[in-house]
Amino acid sequence: AEKIHQRIANNDRWYSLEFFPPRTASGAANLIGCFERMAVGQPLFCDITWHPAGDPAGTKETSSMMIANTMLNYCSIDTMLHITCYGAKKETMLEYLWRAKEFGIRNLLALRGDPPVGEEWIPEKSDFRYASDLVKFIREHFDDYFVICVAGYPQGHPDMVSYEKDLRYLKEKVDCGADFIITQLFFQPETFIKFESDCRSIGIQCPIIPGIFPIQAYASLKNIVRLAKLDVPEEILACIEPIKDNDEAIRNFGVQICVDLCRILLDSGKVHGLHFYTLNREYATIEILRKLDLWLEDPPLRALPWKKISKNYVR
Ligand code: FAD
Repeated sequence: AEKIHQRIANNDRWYSLEFFPPRTASGAANLIGCFERMAVGQPLFCDITWHPAGDPAGTKETSSMMIANTMLNYCSIDTMLHITCYGAKKETMLEYLWRAKEFGIRNLLALRGDPPVGEEWIPEKSDFRYASDLVKFIREHFDDYFVICVAGYPQGHPDMVSYEKDLRYLKEKVDCGADFIITQLFFQPETFIKFESDCRSIGIQCPIIPGIFPIQAYASLKNIVRLAKLDVPEEILACIEPIKDNDEAIRNFGVQICVDLCRILLDSGKVHGLHFYTLNREYATIEILRKLDLWLEDPPLRALPWKKISKNYVR
């Protein structure tokens, strides 16, 4: 498996796709089909979110781990696994990291994570207080084996003391050994452009990749902004409210404003890569990538694992 950071730093245009782990067997089957179809467009990498519910069975094989393994080893897609540390003990984290290494995963998005909905953040519950502790821990135990990404918040993290302090802590995460940053979603290009220059002005030098959220349905928009504790700008709400029961109209509107957003970001010269929150859906993201000329229809030759193995079985 490849480490992705060199290709991220080069100036070619690229994109990545984020998925969440399926909750059912049929969801897993659908998602594998989706990986195969989306790999045709040649994302630089795809990533799998870490489910906050963690690993109740204690097997160290969470659904996130299993689907990341499938993405990498069955579908031959360069994979980044998210991993959160809230509530984790060092020994458990080490087991997850060893497991990820055994699967061949080379890229991690290191996060603090959140307590379950309705519960307070109790730092004493965990051997890690902030994501920067996890970044340090990974570097301490695995040196440069993993590429490490961290999260950035163009409007500031919801728990921050101040925007300036939040930026300082982001720099601390990078100084602890992170290779690049992916941002929380945002709706207006100026939000990212300001954040990027604020990061540069305090000495953050690594690539900063905007997190792009295509609006695909009214309910999922409301849900995601609630989880991320963000506000949808009035002008977007004003367009969406009248069409909220018409999924197709919302999706077309979502594609259009997302293309406009991405074009401004790419034209700013500050952005070479775009990270898409797909919500495990294909249509809108592919439409946007096609309109941006980033969707490459040329399917790469993907050697499936058993094909690699079967070569050795010449009798
Ligand atoms: P941190 O960087 O630790 O920051 C958390 C808060 O602590 C901030 O307010 C920061 O200002 C403050 N802080 C940091 N360092 C210090 C310090 N030294 N002293 C005082 N204050 C400090 N969640 C999941 O459960 N699973 C996922 O897969 C997932 N993927 C995500 C992907 C992206 C791109 C993003 C943007 C978020 C994702 N999240 C995910 C959500 C994330 O877990 C939450 O936003 C969480 O609240 C913060 O995680 P963090 O890694 O950004 O935290």
